[in-house]
Amino acid sequence: MIKTVKDVDLKGKRIIMRVDFNVPMKDGVVQDDTRIMAALPTIKYILEQGPRSLVLMSHLGDPAKDVKKAAEKAEKAGKTFTEADKEKFINGKNRMAPVAAYLESKLGQKVVFAADALGQKAAVDALPEGGVMMLENTRFHKEETSKDAAERDKMAQELATYGDIFVNDAFGTAHRDHASTASIAKFMKTEPVGGFLMEKEVKYLEPMLHNPPKPQVAIIGGAKVSSKIAVLESLLKNASALVIGGGMAYTFLKAQGHSVGKSLVEDDFIDTAKKLLADAQVKGVKILLPVDHVAAAEFSPDATPVAVDGVCIPDNLMAMDVGPKTIEEYKKVISTAKSIVWNGPVGVFEFDAFAKGTETVARLVAEATGNGAMTVVGGGDSVAAVNKFHLADKMSHVSTGGGASLEFLEGKTLPGIAILATK
Ligand code: ADP
Ligand code: MG
Repeated sequence: MIKTVKDVDLKGKRIIMRVDFNVPMKDGVVQDDTRIMAALPTIKYILEQGPRSLVLMSHLGDPAKDVKKAAEKAEKAGKTFTEADKEKFINGKNRMAPVAAYLESKLGQKVVFAADALGQKAAVDALPEGGVMMLENTRFHKEETSKDAAERDKMAQELATYGDIFVNDAFGTAHRDHASTASIAKFMKTEPVGGFLMEKEVKYLEPMLHNPPKPQVAIIGGAKVSSKIAVLESLLKNASALVIGGGMAYTFLKAQGHSVGKSLVEDDFIDTAKKLLADAQVKGVKILLPVDHVAAAEFSPDATPVAVDGVCIPDNLMAMDVGPKTIEEYKKVISTAKSIVWNGPVGVFEFDAFAKGTETVARLVAEATGNGAMTVVGGGDSVAAVNKFHLADKMSHVSTGGGASLEFLEGKTLPGIAILATK
């Protein structure tokens, strides 16, 4: 287990803390404060311990990528993308000042905003006793995300001077090897520790990967096999059943020789799908693929749902959700599971006519939780689905990091976690 803020003495210390305040913004207004609120318990705990100061840092959006896109667009239109454009259209939208103000209102304590993430050593030292500072978007410096470790180190070394102790609570960015998430650890004189959010993520994700309460059921859906094959292979180790749903299921059905009509298929992954099915058979892992479907003639929210009562899908239709027989099969395995990991919706839940499968899965997983199963939901869209059906508080854990939770379950080392001290 990772060490946390509770395992170190924070009194009189200067704390530098990485948070994930990458919140959706519109016209300088925070649109969804979930990530800010999720970091509050750690921030409040730290302040209660009487530290000398607390400096918070985060990225917001992806300014470098936005600039690149905008420059390309301008070039195509025969225009030049100027520094003034960059300031107005990119940086202006990704400023951290409104987030700092928002935090200040929730914290009920002054939050000093530093207009640049770098060059703040003197300002940090000048903070009043127990003062809080929020740095400007770390990604305004290209060194933050640089592929060159020496460049990242240069930025990290300066950030490290803002604190005696580094706290990482940014699980959502833990899969990134960046200056403020990982490199900084090298320049700290004390061991880095996690915040409570990081602790909770690891507490639930680690057993799901290494020693889940058995039987474990993995429900993997979503659009593409290509993005989920690594997690399927990884979960095959402990799961007694793999439920494969969503758009990716049709590549598997095609691999088994069924006709799939106009459904989403990645032809390059048919052999990969075959291999996974064979591996599962060798390991004795039950695979549940859709046995009936709700289909449509076109991918549209207004498309008329057509029930397809069998595995094979007619040529003129695409499968958009799983059917009632499939849901009955899901019920059997989910209700007997002692642990469930769910990543990826089993249908196009964004369209109401095709949301039933995903909604039922969410209800079944919630029910299993009520009956004592340990349940973890990860993945941006799966979490959105669970929120849409108001079932988030009925799960053991809903992960705050889409990409990070997926990579964790794939068994990859996450740089932002690997640098933390363990106990
Ligand atoms: P997550 O973010 O939870 O990891 P993904 O990003 O892999 O999930 O996939 C989510 C998307 O998959 C959703 O937008 C959903 O509409 C889509 N999807 C689910 N089922 C189908 C299907 N049968 N055909 C096409 N797209 C699908
Ligand atoms: Mg997604």
